[in-house]
Amino acid sequence: MSNLPTLIIATRNPGKTAEIRDLLAEFPVHIKNLADLGPTPPVEENGDSFDENAYKKARFVARILGLPALADDSGLVVEALGGAPGVFSARYAGENATDAQRCAKLLQEMQGQSNRRAAFECVISIAVPSGPALTYEGRCEGLLTEIPKGCNGFGYDPIFYYPPLQKTFAELTRMEKSRVSHRGRALRELRDEFDKVLIWIRQHMPDLPRPAPLRWQGE
Ligand code: IMP
Repeated sequence: MSNLPTLIIATRNPGKTAEIRDLLAEFPVHIKNLADLGPTPPVEENGDSFDENAYKKARFVARILGLPALADDSGLVVEALGGAPGVFSARYAGENATDAQRCAKLLQEMQGQSNRRAAFECVISIAVPSGPALTYEGRCEGLLTEIPKGCNGFGYDPIFYYPPLQKTFAELTRMEKSRVSHRGRALRELRDEFDKVLIWIRQHMPDLPRPAPLRWQGE
């Protein structure tokens, strides 16, 4: 049996898992996602904040699997719309709408608006089965365009203009986006503290296998 702790990423999205696995590659931890574990009940994302949704997902998965779990929640916050679409970003134009339909609806709502300030926000929560959790946050500010531009990325990327690079997120490569994005920022904050996170996990899960004692090589 391996001595490494396991961290479950509360997603079935292989892209998200790969991004997190790459970022934490240097640390002594097994990363698995929900697809590695067979069927699990869905978690309702019905919280009022990204924070609440990320914590709910992480805690639920940690509880049902008995292992530490990491979840994230993110979305777009538009100043002139009082923070909408916010936690409704994924469902803004209805459950089965496409990314293009969500962008179109947002541009429609913004017609004639001169204040185009918007920000992507991301919250990452790591929970242990007994309930406590750690939180990491990232934010990226920009402006909403009048029309979509660029074909990379997903979601609202084609209508989110990032002034420092003078491009929309959909005109950036994945690497360029990750350097400045809300998710990239939150993940780097997590990585910078991950040694401490591992200690915290061990403190809250005393039954995890201990690392093998170092063998004395001398006389
Ligand atoms: P989730 O956190 O993966 O559930 O994402 C919520 C929704 O926010 C997504 O469906 C997108 O509509 C939007 N969103 C989150 N992050 C991004 C991003 O990096 N680019 C564009 N849209 C995003």
